[in-house]
This record gives sequence, structure tokens and C-alpha cells, in this order.
Amino acid sequence: MNFQQAIEPAAPKPRRSRQASVTWGPRVVTVGGDAPVRVQSMTNTDTVDAIGTAIQVKELAIAGSEMVRITVNTPEAAAQVPYIRDQLDRMGIDVPLIGDFHYNGHRLLTDYPACAEALSKYRINPGNVGKGDKKDRQFGQMIEAAVRWKKAVRIGVNWGSLDQELLAHLMDVNSRRDEPWAAKSVMYEALVSSAIDSATLAESMGLDGNQIILSCKVSGVQDLISVYRELAKRCDYALHLGLTEAGMATKGTVASATALSILLQEGIGDTIRVSLTPQPGEARTQEVLIANEILQALGLRVFVPSVTACPGCGRTTSMTFQELAKTIDDYLRDQMPVWRKKYPGVENLKVAVMGCIVNGPGESKHADIGISLPGTGEAPAAPVFIDGEKALTLRGDNIAAEFHQLVETYIEKRFGRTPAAV
Ligand code: SF4
Repeated sequence: MNFQQAIEPAAPKPRRSRQASVTWGPRVVTVGGDAPVRVQSMTNTDTVDAIGTAIQVKELAIAGSEMVRITVNTPEAAAQVPYIRDQLDRMGIDVPLIGDFHYNGHRLLTDYPACAEALSKYRINPGNVGKGDKKDRQFGQMIEAAVRWKKAVRIGVNWGSLDQELLAHLMDVNSRRDEPWAAKSVMYEALVSSAIDSATLAESMGLDGNQIILSCKVSGVQDLISVYRELAKRCDYALHLGLTEAGMATKGTVASATALSILLQEGIGDTIRVSLTPQPGEARTQEVLIANEILQALGLRVFVPSVTACPGCGRTTSMTFQELAKTIDDYLRDQMPVWRKKYPGVENLKVAVMGCIVNGPGESKHADIGISLPGTGEAPAAPVFIDGEKALTLRGDNIAAEFHQLVETYIEKRFGRTPAAV
């Protein structure tokens, strides 16, 4: 067999944005430039419920959210923000808080300076800062607060609240073209122009351009790709990516993963959020786990050990394989908050849990540690492979617990800190 040419491994294109810093005390989260793509999330608690909000922020931060946005919609909510920050600091959670402002942000940031100070970044929606001659004045008040308190700003345009005056103006201009654009193209233009023009205005008002992050969220996958490609072409501000109103469960997950992956692969996007509608009873942290998985699947970040598991088929008619794959996955995730500190680099671990002899031994050998379970009709034995070599065979009813122990021993040996010499 002759090689035609070397096949280049696919990789995300490098990004080219400026770098912003979102800080709280000594904690600095860099966004853009050569910083890793950051994961964000947003609470769904009433901000007036300071304790409930602080607890959810803590959960999101522990799940891996590097910045957490909270709604600041009323004077009562603004008054609670410093208290939420204080609660988090007491719990040792230094995740930066982002304030989400609409309609009255100019008043809240002016009237509640402790709120303005406790937040690390302000999200400003140019479509919701005010109408007519109030618009620039109220936008300016928010920028003034950001400059005064040295905060980063996300200018977050959303097509559900697009600046209607701008859209009407662009529609009017379009109608006078010899060959008018399609209405959707005008809407794309309005989204991109609203973000960039607002950023230019903010800079003219004294905000450091490196402290500006832009977003233009829409709810359609192809729309998001179109808008962000154009946005990335026209500016070098750091970009926050997210499919707004992505939906629930499988639909929301797949739509977000599809849209974000295409853009991230093209080097577009410096921070992401998965805007998932939680199913009843579902933890808010699900959106963080999905964001982490997207970045990990693309090879942009590594958060947790990866578990390679086959889908199972007619050769795995018992539940044993599915149960073991799930318990191993849950076990690795549950241990991560402790392991991350105890075993630096453990997130790079690769574990395989395979259903039968067809691909089981081969896939297990590719992992750091892997187990090939017996398929239907195979001898009741599960060979375990460590660093590519068959190490032992597990038998009996206690395979899951014994495999957990083997994984833990492997991690201790490979990622444990070398004991100090005595
Ligand atoms: S490894 Fe075996 S059980 Fe798993 S999908 Fe392949 S054939 Fe089926």
C-alpha cells in the first residue's frame, strides 16, 4: 500500500481576538487572546434570595463554570448582590459574578455602587438600554460605572430584543437599494452592527477596548454561524458564544453543540454558554457539564477523565455493561473535585468500558485503563488492560467495585504527588 500524502489531523483554528480580564480579588479569568475558551453559566434563582443564589453560584462554579451571571433586575436584587458576593467569599468561591442588566441597569449601577463594585462584569443589552435620546445617555451611565469600577463589559445583543430603531433604519436603507437584501440578511446586519457600534461608542466613552466582549445570540444554528462569522470578520473583540433559547434536553444539547462546535473549530469564540432549559428537577449545573463536554470533545480543554464506552448491541443483552459504564462515569465525575487538587493532570486519564470481545480488548488497550466485559454467551470474565497490556481478569459479582479500586490505584500511582524525601 502506498501513502498518497500525510493526512493532517483536524484541529481548531487559532483564535485572534483581544484579551479581556474578568477579575475578582486575586482571581483573574482571562477571556480571548491565547486564553482557554471559558465556560460561563447563569443562575435561575431570584437574586433577591441571596442565599439561594449564592448556593447555586457555588454549585455552578464547582461544576466548572468560570464566570457566573446573575439577574440584576430590581433595586432589591441590586441591594443583594454585595451580600451574595460576600457569601461566596466566605465559602471560598472566588468565581467572578456577572450582572445581567436590562432596561434599568443605568439606574441600578448608579444607585447601588456596592452592587457595581461586587460584580466583575456587566452584561449590557443595547436593545434594552432605552429609546430615542435616552439610549446613548443611559448606555453611557453604564459604561461610566464600568470605567469607574474597572469592570469588563459584555455587549450582548439578542435577536429577541434587537434594537428596533436600528433595525427599522437598516430596513429603510435596504428598501432603497437597487437590489434589496433578503430580510434575514438585514436582520443579521442589525445584530452585528448593534454589537460593533455599541462597542465603538463604549470605547469613545472611555472604556478600554480590551475590556469589551461581544455576543450576538440567536436561536437558530445556521443563523448563529452566519452572524458570528461576520462578527469575527469585522472586529477583534473577544466573543462570547451561545445559542439563545436553545431548548430542552436532547434538542437544546444537540443544537448548542452543533452551532458552537462549528464556530469554535473555525477559531471563533472565546467564552461559551449553553442556554439549556432545565427539565423539571434537573440540576442547573447540566448546562456547565454540556459546555465542558463540547470543549473537551473538540480537544480545546480537558475537564474530566474521558470514558470510552461502546453503545452495546445484541451481544450485550444484560444490563451489566450499561450499569458499569454509568457507575464508572459517575464515579470519575464525583471524585473530580477532590482528585483535581490531589492528582494534578488526572483529567487527562482515559478509561474504556467495553461490552464484548469484538472491540473490547482493542479499545481497552488504547485507554490508560480499560475493561472488556463479557458479552452474551462469552465466558463470565472481564479482562482489564493497563497501559496497553492485559493486567488481570475480574470475575464474579463485584466487578464494578473492583474496577473502581483498580482505577483509583492507577490514578494514585500515575498522578499522585511524589512523597517528599525523608
Ligand atoms: S464492543 Fe461488542 S458489545 Fe460493544 S458495540 Fe461492539 S460488538 Fe457490540
